[in-house]
Amino acid sequence: MVVVPHDKLPPLSIGPHERVFILTGAGISAESGIATFRDKNGIWQRYRIEDVASPEGWHADASKVWLFYSQRREQAESVHPNPAHRALAALEAKLENRLFLCTQNVDPLHELAGSQRVFHMHGELFQSRCEDANCTTSPHEDHGIYLTRESIPSCMACGGRMRPHICWFGETPFGMDRIMRELARCDWFITIGSSGAVYPAAGFVEEVRSHGRARTIYVGPERPENAGHFDECRLGKAGEAVPMLFSL
Ligand code: NAD
Repeated sequence: MVVVPHDKLPPLSIGPHERVFILTGAGISAESGIATFRDKNGIWQRYRIEDVASPEGWHADASKVWLFYSQRREQAESVHPNPAHRALAALEAKLENRLFLCTQNVDPLHELAGSQRVFHMHGELFQSRCEDANCTTSPHEDHGIYLTRESIPSCMACGGRMRPHICWFGETPFGMDRIMRELARCDWFITIGSSGAVYPAAGFVEEVRSHGRARTIYVGPERPENAGHFDECRLGKAGEAVPMLFSL
């Protein structure tokens, strides 16, 4: 494993038939002003994760959960993509469906940068769905702000409460079958701005290595917890490193 400042290594040259799996984490949105889990003054320091991002928290106090996600929605309405998001949109334009962009982020910054095919494994901040897993209604776009218990909307089909379309701790991320297929067939696996502490995403690099074919690259300002599984750790902020990462 090589750990070097990102500008000390040449850009990656993707072959004409090669497939690229990119996993982004909170770090890619940090320079756009969205706090990561680890920011010392970040939002996550002011909330207990189990209160606002778990099924138990939802059942204990749904209005507290909606207050938290309403604040996240308000914040996300005013942020803008940074050069890293834009570089990945440009990469998609070049590679088309040979790029699988999987994000752990629930913000819409990849889409705002122009990415068309973003796979949100942890859901989307601006979508809501019925809390009843047996209800047949689909998640729908929702920019609503719900600050009181009375304001929480009800499902039109079954009358259940609407909840954020977010994968909470203790829940299974969306689309794991598709993710596993893409991990098995990629030639490049690149993680950008993720601490390597939250599973299952933190285990994707080991899954890729078990297939024995892809090069594995990490990009971020510090070594992630799962650094040992990457061929290279390219140290740098996403906004500086990602635009220089590929020779297009
Ligand atoms: P994390 O907070 O655990 O780790 C963030 C990582 O980003 C750290 O390793 C840090 O070194 C790195 N980082 C900080 N500044 C960076 C920069 N400028 N460029 C590149 N990297 C930088 O985040 P994670 O690993 O994504 O944690 C996973 C969980 O956090 C996910 O469940 C995700 O849904 C949630 N989350 C999402 C958002 C969002 O949607 N924007 C924000 C916070 C947390």
